[in-house]
Amino acid sequence: MAYQSINPYSNEVLKSYPDATDADLEQALAAGDKLYHQWRNDAVSSRAPYLKKVAELLRAEKQELATIMTKEMGKLISEANAEVDLCADIVDYYADHAVALLKPVPLKTDAGAAYYAKQATGVIFAVEPWNFPLYQIVRVFAPNFMVGNPMILKHASNTPGSADAFDKLVQKAGAPAGSFKNLFVNYDQVSKAIADPRVSGVALTGSERGGSSVAKEAGANLKKSTMELGGNDAFIVLNDADLDLVNKVSTQARLFNAGQVCTSSKRFIVLAEHYDEFLKNLKAGFAAVKPGDPLAKDTTLAPLSSKRAKEKLVGQVKKAVDGGANVYFGNEPIDLPGQFFPPTILTDIAKDNPIYNEEMFGPVATVYKVDNEDEAVALANDSSYGLGGSVFSKNPKHAAYISERVETGMSFVNSSWLSLPELPFGGVKNSGYGRELSDLGLNAFVNEHLVINATDK
Ligand code: NAP
Repeated sequence: MAYQSINPYSNEVLKSYPDATDADLEQALAAGDKLYHQWRNDAVSSRAPYLKKVAELLRAEKQELATIMTKEMGKLISEANAEVDLCADIVDYYADHAVALLKPVPLKTDAGAAYYAKQATGVIFAVEPWNFPLYQIVRVFAPNFMVGNPMILKHASNTPGSADAFDKLVQKAGAPAGSFKNLFVNYDQVSKAIADPRVSGVALTGSERGGSSVAKEAGANLKKSTMELGGNDAFIVLNDADLDLVNKVSTQARLFNAGQVCTSSKRFIVLAEHYDEFLKNLKAGFAAVKPGDPLAKDTTLAPLSSKRAKEKLVGQVKKAVDGGANVYFGNEPIDLPGQFFPPTILTDIAKDNPIYNEEMFGPVATVYKVDNEDEAVALANDSSYGLGGSVFSKNPKHAAYISERVETGMSFVNSSWLSLPELPFGGVKNSGYGRELSDLGLNAFVNEHLVINATDK
C-alpha cells in the first residue's frame, strides 16, 4: 500500500490505507459529473450554506484535525492549529463572496447588449502536497465548490490521514454526493482521470518534477491547468531597512513549518552595510530553537516530514559544502530519533555552486552579501523560480519599486511571506502558473461564456 501515515517524530507507522481501484475512480468521476450537470441549474447561492457548515466543522474539530497533521507530517501543533483556522477563513471567504464575484460581467460594445457569464466547467482533479495538508486541499475545494465544479483529490502519499479526515468532514457537512472525493490513486490513475472527458481542469501543487509530469498530461488532453510549484524566494535587506523589524521576522521567515514552505525566504540578500549584523542575528535566532515533540507546546523546531525529505536535504547541504559553501552556523546532527534537520546558515555560495539554483526544503538559509540594490535585484532574479519574496526598507514606496523589479509572483514589503483568502497566491517561471485564492483563484476553472444580443443595441 503506497499511502501511509508515518510519524516523523517517532518513526512509527500509524496507518496504511488501501489503494483506490479503477472502479473507485469511475464512481467518483460519475458522481462528480452528475452533480456538475445538476449544479449548472442551481443558483451559486444555494451552495454557500454547505461551505458555511464546512467552516463551522473545521473550527469545531480543529484540535483533532491539527493533531492528525502534526502526527503524520510533523508540523508544530501551534502551526497546525493556525492552518485549520486559515482553512476555515478561506472557506468562509468563498461562501460569503462568491455570489458577488461570480456575477455576469457586462461588456461595452456597439454590437449589442453583451456580457459574459462565469460558469462551471466540470470535475476538477487536484494533486496536492504534504506540507500544508489541509490548506492545500481547501485552496482548490472552496472556490470550485462555489463555482459548481466538483473536485477529486489525489493527496501526497504521506498525508492520507489528513485527506481522509477532510473527506469525512465534507460528508458530515452534508455536501452533495460527488462534490468532493479523496482517492488513494496511483500516478497511472491520475493520468487516466486527466484524460477522462468528465474532468475539465487539473490543479497541482508540488515540485517541478511532479508539476511537469502532470502538466504534460493536462496539455496532451487539452485540459486547463494551474501549477503551484517550488520557490527560492529572496529576502532583500536594503541599506535603509529597519533592522529591528528584519531581526524580528527573519528566523520565522525561514524556519516556519521546519522550513518546508514554498514561499519560505530561502535566499537572504543583504546590502554589505548590514551583512555582519544580519548574520549574527539570524544565527542567534536559529540557535534559540528547541527541537522536540511537535505536539508539545514548548517545542519550536519540528522534524522534517519524512526520512526521504531529510535524506534529500542532507544530500543538498553536502553538495553545497563540497561546492565551496561555508557553514556559518548549524549542520550538526540533532540527537533525536525523529527526522530532524538542524537550522543551518550557508554563506559564500558562488554561482557555480550546485545548489545556487536549487530549492532546499528545510531549515537551511543561504545568505548573500551585495554591494548595491542593482546587484540585489540581479541576484534575486538569477533563479529559475519566481514565487514570492520580501523587501525591507524604511521607505515603503522604494521597497515596492524594488519589489516590482523582481521577477516573482508575490512580494511582501517589510514583512515575511503570508497567505490570506483575499490575496492571490502563485508564481512565474518554474514556480508555475495560474493563481489560487482571491477572485483569481475563483476564476481559475470557469467558462467565461460570452452572450451577446445583436438585436438589443
Ligand atoms: P511532489 O513530489 O511533486 O508531490 C506533490 C504531489 O504530486 C503529491 O501528491 C505527489 O504524489 C504528486 N505527484 C508527483 N509526481 C506525480 C506524477 N507524475 N503523477 C501524479 N502525481 C504526482 O512535491 P513534494 O516535493 O512532495 O512537495 C513539495 C514541493 O511543493 C516543494 O517544491 C514546494 O515548494 C512545493 N509547494 C508549492 C506551493 C505553491 O503554492 N506554489 C505550495 C506548497 C508546496 P506522491 O506523494 O504519491 O508522490
